[in-house]
This record gives sequence, structure tokens and C-alpha cells, in this order.
Amino acid sequence: MTFASLGLIEPLLRTLEALDYRTPTPVQAAAIPAVLKGRDLLASAQTGSGKTAGFALPLLQRLALEGPRVASNSVRALVLVPTRELAEQIQQSLQVYGRDLPLGSYAVYGGVSLNPQMMRLRKGVDVLVATPGRLLDLYRQNAVGFEQLQILVLDEADRMLDLGFARELDELFAALPKQRQTLLFSATFSAAIRQLAGEMLRDPLSVEV
Ligand code: AMP
Repeated sequence: MTFASLGLIEPLLRTLEALDYRTPTPVQAAAIPAVLKGRDLLASAQTGSGKTAGFALPLLQRLALEGPRVASNSVRALVLVPTRELAEQIQQSLQVYGRDLPLGSYAVYGGVSLNPQMMRLRKGVDVLVATPGRLLDLYRQNAVGFEQLQILVLDEADRMLDLGFARELDELFAALPKQRQTLLFSATFSAAIRQLAGEMLRDPLSVEV
């Protein structure tokens, strides 16, 4: 199995070769072709499984191939995460994997001032990584809108619920276009996560690794 056989385009394959990623991990082998086709995904992958590249690579490819340019104060893909550390980590991965593609990514989270984030969002962002509370603050202040949103990723969804973000998530989801692709990653599958998945996903591919 190779990354090329999963359908990734040359700029991504070049980057993966430079990173010395030779073989897709199981979650990547399952997720990449399905996400490239536009399918929703429900995945139980843990940290260390390669799940970040599993969603980041096909997400970047879809945006690169399909995109209208991002409008001001807009986002084309949104990655929701529980903590600022994870937001920074995913943002760095997106920059590395997407370095040969004409796409921008940015991370917003609480505990730092709002103003620089509002300024950066004015230009629009192809991929925004965000913690739910700060994203909701920015949305309420009209710093970001979701009219252009095509892809939503929920990473570590169980931790987001454990940290008490359920209400923020509900309010954000109400603001998102119904027509979109959604990918949900969670280490555990409680009744609450299954309910969230039932509300958020349409005919998802289930991946367990
Ligand atoms: P993750 O589970 O997304 O946090 O990734 C775990 C680690 O594995 C990261 O340091 C990645 O850089 C690395 N990694 C992900 N996919 C591959 C791959 N196919 N080959 C080699 N390393 C990988």
C-alpha cells in the first residue's frame, strides 16, 4: 500500500516523501480514500495512530482542488479540538502537510487576546483550527462566518464533551451549513458521543483501529 494508491496528488506525495512517510497507517489507508470522495467519517483512532494526517491530507487536497478562494471573515474547513495544545499541534501539522499547496491555516483558542485573532480572520482562512469556546466568542462578534464551510472535523470529540463544551458545540453546529462533510474522531464511544455522531454525520464510514 502506498500513499499514491490512495489517490493523493503530487504536491502532497512529494511532501510525504520528504517527511519519509513510506506507508499509510491503517487509519490513513481507510480514511484518505473515503474523505477524498466526500464521505463522512466516524473514527475511533487514538493519538499515535496517524489520525492527524488521516484527515489533514484529504482535507487539504479537497480544498486545493475544489476551492473558490476564501472570502473575508470566512473559513472553508474547520477543525474543532478540546485544547489549545492540540490546536497548535494540528495547525503545525497542517502547515507541514500543506506546504506545497496554496492554502492557509490558522489556530484560535482561549487564554490569549482576541484582537490579533480577529485581525487575522478578516483575511479569511482556508483551514481554521479552534477550541469551541473561543470560536463561539469570535462568531458572536462577527469575526468569522461559516457560509463557505465545506468540511468540519471534530477531533477528540469525547474530550470536548468531558471538558464541558457540549453547549458551545450545539450553538456552533446550529450556525454551520447543513450541506457539508463531517469527520468525527473519538477515543471512546459513550452514549453522548453516539448521539452527537447521529446528529452530525450522514451515512458515515466507520473506522476502528
Ligand atoms: P498522530 O496520531 O496523528 O498524532 O501521528 C503520530 C505520529 O506519527 C506523528 O509524529 C506523525 O508525524 C507520524 N506519522 C503519521 N503518519 C505516518 C506515516 N504514514 N508514516 C510515518 N510516520 C507517520
